[in-house]
Amino acid sequence: MKPLALFGGTFDPVHLGHLSVSWEAAELLDAEVRLMPAHVPPHRHAPTASPAQRVAMLQAALQGQDRLTLDTRELRRDGPSYTIDTLRELRAELGERPLVLLLGADAFAGLPSWHGWRELFDHAHIGVLNRPGIDAAWSVELALEIGPRRVADPRVLHELAAGKVIELAVTPLEISATRIRELLAEGRDPRYLLPAGLFDDPALLAPYRH
Ligand code: ATP
Repeated sequence: MKPLALFGGTFDPVHLGHLSVSWEAAELLDAEVRLMPAHVPPHRHAPTASPAQRVAMLQAALQGQDRLTLDTRELRRDGPSYTIDTLRELRAELGERPLVLLLGADAFAGLPSWHGWRELFDHAHIGVLNRPGIDAAWSVELALEIGPRRVADPRVLHELAAGKVIELAVTPLEISATRIRELLAEGRDPRYLLPAGLFDDPALLAPYRH
């Protein structure tokens, strides 16, 4: 069964790093990939753009293709977006269909600070996407949990519903939303770091311009 892969984030704003690595992950895993914006990320400062603005940017970014889709379930829920709650909900909907949580290497390294992190593996596999220019060292605790779960062959993720970890060698792109917000705030025009659709309507990037 084709796995369902989820790529969560603040997408403040969505950039070509997000799109390129999730697109390549869809190819490598032969999976359906959904981009899933978070409402109140438990680990981070509040996003600059509102949920509605972030969704509008994602919709503009995803136009013209159908491999990547949008899942706004976390925005419809009140309170913090704990990933474990989302995975429990999806597992109840999916039955035995394989589910993969896609995480950039930086987000993966921080996994042990997540609410209920060990239970994530009861509901999903994790696909780790390499990301240059960030500190992605694994703690001993993380390495011990991951050791027995690591697989190299994506086909294993088609046969099991959850519980494995695969590292996906995607094209490294050193692009971050933080840097893009800084450039926009300085009045710069980071045109080729962002999907072209974000420039069609000046209102889309207005939250970041001063
Ligand atoms: P910020 O700079 O605001 O922290 P970000 O660019 O890291 O934002 P997020 O929306 O926080 O983007 O990231 C969502 C997910 O995308 C995370 O798992 C993150 O690791 C991953 N990600 C973001 N940019 C890249 C990239 N260039 N390469 C690989 N993974 C990425």
